[in-house]
Amino acid sequence: MTIQREIAKLVDRLDGVAVCDGCLTDKLNLSVPSQANAVTRTMAGEARYERKKDECGLCGAAKIVIRRTK
Ligand SMILES: [Zn+2]
Repeated sequence: MTIQREIAKLVDRLDGVAVCDGCLTDKLNLSVPSQANAVTRTMAGEARYERKKDECGLCGAAKIVIRRTK
């Protein structure tokens, strides 16, 4: 499975809970956060995802997060 699919699956499963690139990196055992960052930047252009600065639902830090909106 590609990283992009794995990230989309995780964000979908969180069902509206915001998650930062760092937590995606941890959860999916990616080697570097820039891998998650590249994917979430792409996902931000899709209508069903929202990417903005907010509190991460997993680590609690105020960061750029992504969440499923519908
Ligand atoms: Zn986080």
